[in-house]
Amino acid sequence: MRINIEYRHESGFEKFFHKIATKTVAVMYDINTLPYALQIKAEMEKRGAKLLDVAYSDEELIPSEDKCEYAYEIAATADYVLAVGSGTLNDMAKSVATRRNIESGVLVTAASMDGYCSKGAALMRAGVKVTDEVRTPSDILIDLDIVCNAPRLMTAAGFGDIIGKYTCLTDWRMAHALKGEPIDEEAYALMEQARTACVNAFEDLTNHTGEAVAKLMDALITAGLSMAKCGNSRPASGSEHHQSHFLEMDFVRRGEKIPMHGLKVAIGTLVSIELYNYIKDNRITFNGAEKVYRLAEALPRVDTVRDMLVKMGCPVRFSEIGVRKETMEEMIDKAYTVRDRYTVLTLIHDLGLTEQIKPILMEKYY
Ligand SMILES: [Zn+2]
Repeated sequence: MRINIEYRHESGFEKFFHKIATKTVAVMYDINTLPYALQIKAEMEKRGAKLLDVAYSDEELIPSEDKCEYAYEIAATADYVLAVGSGTLNDMAKSVATRRNIESGVLVTAASMDGYCSKGAALMRAGVKVTDEVRTPSDILIDLDIVCNAPRLMTAAGFGDIIGKYTCLTDWRMAHALKGEPIDEEAYALMEQARTACVNAFEDLTNHTGEAVAKLMDALITAGLSMAKCGNSRPASGSEHHQSHFLEMDFVRRGEKIPMHGLKVAIGTLVSIELYNYIKDNRITFNGAEKVYRLAEALPRVDTVRDMLVKMGCPVRFSEIGVRKETMEEMIDKAYTVRDRYTVLTLIHDLGLTEQIKPILMEKYY
């Protein structure tokens, strides 16, 4: 299905408003997104839509069975579900809409992560995080005034998610060079261009200008589109994401608050660049090593990336986001097992370099 990605114009979201004019729309929001929900509800009502409220009073909404069931019940007579929020509310809306066999959409409230148009919904079931396969939303509505006003750390997390596209694309090239994994060049180029445009707008992004935030938003959405294009998450997820997933599972196991996705990915990116540099600088020899050295050379300097993250307000050590020391050590050992996908973490493991590189990573990133 083609996703309608619509930026707000003076007249609002024309295409979307036209579509829902005769529909009953269940609008999902929490206490943080309430003001934006009120605004768009008024606009939809003016266009003739019937509205149902799925209001949560939570400040930190957990996508549990109860919370999803509440939305599912209210949406019984709806023919469209609109989330007003970012990751959690969008995932819940996608899930409810898929179960009800109706369409969903999202009014984006933060450029915080790249899952807006993904086919996955991260939910909690019996206290365990699960990722359900769901239908992608039909409409992604972006009001830059709202997104520019999001908490700074959310935008920083979105930037961290995009910075991670350096290492995930490099991992993909490496898996191609060493293991013959196919590359979808079109999906690769899409992601690379959007990432570069976003990073080029970095200075303006630190000032949260509309134009720069739009570039970030575009890169986050492109990640979803390029994944959909090639049918897997290679264009948007590599070793930096595997580190993030590994840590996330530990936070969930402990019942602790999970730091934002992009913040974990950002530090994971620094670690992954460090791994590439280690192989290159120490001239580690193996079959295909020259190709890996060249890939490492094409990556940005680790100091440059770290400086950008700091300027955006991203933490640059795992200790800063509540990761335990032993968890990070375990992550260096095992994060390559999170997915059956060849990355620099797998290479380091295969070369038997894990133990010698661990103290260096702990010193720099814990
Ligand atoms: Zn991501």
